[in-house]
Amino acid sequence: MSAPSILPRRAIIIAVGSELLTPFRTDTNSLFVTSRLNDLGIEVTAKVIVGDRREELAAVVGEAMRRADLLVLTGGLGPTDDDVTRLAVSDALELPLLEDPSIVERIRQRFAKRGMAMPAVNRVQGQVLSGASVLPNPNGTAPGQWVEQEGRIVVLLPGPPREMRPMLDAALAERLEPHAAGARLYRRVLKIAGRTESDVEQVAQPVYSRWIDWAPPVSTSILAAPGQIELHFSVRATTEEEGRAVLDRATSEMTAVVGPDVYSTDGRSLERVVGDLLRGRGWRIATAESCTGGLVASRLTDIAGSSDYVERGVVCYSNRAKTEWLGVPEELIREHGAVSEAVGLAMAAGVRERANVEVAVGITGVAGPGGGTEQKPVGTVVVAVVGLSGAQVRRFLFSGGREQVKFQASQAALNMVRAMVGGSG
Ligand code: ATP
Ligand code: MG
Repeated sequence: MSAPSILPRRAIIIAVGSELLTPFRTDTNSLFVTSRLNDLGIEVTAKVIVGDRREELAAVVGEAMRRADLLVLTGGLGPTDDDVTRLAVSDALELPLLEDPSIVERIRQRFAKRGMAMPAVNRVQGQVLSGASVLPNPNGTAPGQWVEQEGRIVVLLPGPPREMRPMLDAALAERLEPHAAGARLYRRVLKIAGRTESDVEQVAQPVYSRWIDWAPPVSTSILAAPGQIELHFSVRATTEEEGRAVLDRATSEMTAVVGPDVYSTDGRSLERVVGDLLRGRGWRIATAESCTGGLVASRLTDIAGSSDYVERGVVCYSNRAKTEWLGVPEELIREHGAVSEAVGLAMAAGVRERANVEVAVGITGVAGPGGGTEQKPVGTVVVAVVGLSGAQVRRFLFSGGREQVKFQASQAALNMVRAMVGGSG
């Protein structure tokens, strides 16, 4: 089938699956689909989650066809009785399903490669809506479908994100992008650590509020999570050069007012930025973590190739571990308490010496919900960073539950390492 003559403007996303209506599973596919459609200048006007019920789904598809010119469905393309997407769309669009023998053969071969016979039920995955094009699924058995009817496009994609994502990208690149000429959305994300939302908003708002008058205008949104603020810029531009130039200008204006707390303008995570800085210097790092339970080491090692710079990480939760493994003197703990600048520094220095590395981190704190005192309330965290030419120690008071305190502590630690490794010392 040829590409559509119009570029759709309004889309509805339908996530299919009864599991998505339970408290245990979240529909994340629609977020990915939304971002890809927005890139093409297509607005998502509604998202719907529907259980594995043929009539319900057919009704939703029918209504969505009246309200939007692009429908993207994910899920329900499997071989079992509760996979009803093909049937429901067939009902709603009044298009018969026809078996495509080449799909059945491909599924048969997929099984054969693993030395298995294709179960009979899988045959239904070869059922294609009359007039639809088949979207190949390199990572699974269920192919997708793309069907057009009266100027509307309906796309069927499988549920598993690792199957759905490349299929959507391929389909959009082939069928819609060539027609998106003139109007693409370009984005940039500034990531900021160590600041609060209101603090960032206060300096950022006077700057980005002026961008509405730019030609083309840049729109900004602020996404805040504990320990992490993101500023999202987007601009609709006709060429990639134009988009990039406008976003470069916005980025440099914003970075100038927010300052060095902006750690990333190219999508990199904080752990990746820190890793890149360490590798750039040829330095290695060791961590000594108490209240974060290894989270800093875990985040650092989330990055492929981190063995270049991560030497070791120690979880020293008890006082005894701090003394036995890191040589933190018992008297020091007795005198200052386990959560103290002195102990944080001794932990960092202890692991640094034992690991024989350039940079080391020590973290000790009260993650809660119990264990707080008046002097050291829940959320009190001491982070120490010891480097080649000096040490830094800071005391924080984080809010939120245990998990949030741990994450904010890991964020603060990585940010302090970033400052030390990125700076002169
Ligand atoms: P399969 O051939 O694997 O059965 P399918 O198209 O039938 O493909 P589903 O059975 O609906 O897909 O979903 C399979 C899995 O994919 C789900 O268990 C879930 O983990 C994931 N999944 C489905 N829909 C979504 C969604 N909207 N967001 C995130 N994950 C999803
Ligand atoms: Mg299924």
